[in-house]
Amino acid sequence: MLINIHSTIKSSRVNGPGDRFVIWTQGCRKMCKNCYNPETWSHYKNNLVDIDSLVEEIKNSSVSGVTISGGDPFEQPEELFYLLREIKQLDLSDGVIVFSGYTIREIRGDSKLEKCLDYIDVLIDGLYIEEKRITNGLAGSSNQQFHYLSDKISSDSIEIDQEVEIHLLGELIQITGFPLIDRMHMKSKGISFM
Ligand code: SF4
Repeated sequence: MLINIHSTIKSSRVNGPGDRFVIWTQGCRKMCKNCYNPETWSHYKNNLVDIDSLVEEIKNSSVSGVTISGGDPFEQPEELFYLLREIKQLDLSDGVIVFSGYTIREIRGDSKLEKCLDYIDVLIDGLYIEEKRITNGLAGSSNQQFHYLSDKISSDSIEIDQEVEIHLLGELIQITGFPLIDRMHMKSKGISFM
């Protein structure tokens, strides 16, 4: 099965506890004002990646966890389910974190989405609301909630400071993390944030 992704980072320490493989999926219809990742909105076929190969890549790396963001991963529900189920087999010590613009209530109201929850350790849910922006953790705005769906990741371990990483992906400079800087201004300078 193929999943449409925007990009990946093979090792990150600013997207949750431990050393994490990070996947940004392609496609999101939520259109949040001043979304950090508008280039992920389109559902055009960006990088169609074989999920088994992606999981093999994760398995062969030394990461302790996986973070899946977007775009909205739940806008490819069947692909997300398959991906999560395969990652679960790896039994990573720092588990799986997933971001979504859907609330957990909306996810639980749709059987195709809900079944993914069995394979997620922490869900960070809800739209990004500019007026409620916060700058002290993994969530972008105060309406977004952390849902601990297993005991693998504690609330203490998921608290992070304003750390960022800079990755060079070909010609793209990609900054990931949650910096206390004006992302929109930096984007206008051609620097990509994820
Ligand atoms: S849900 Fe996330 S990716 Fe989608 S528009 Fe909102 S902030 Fe952007």
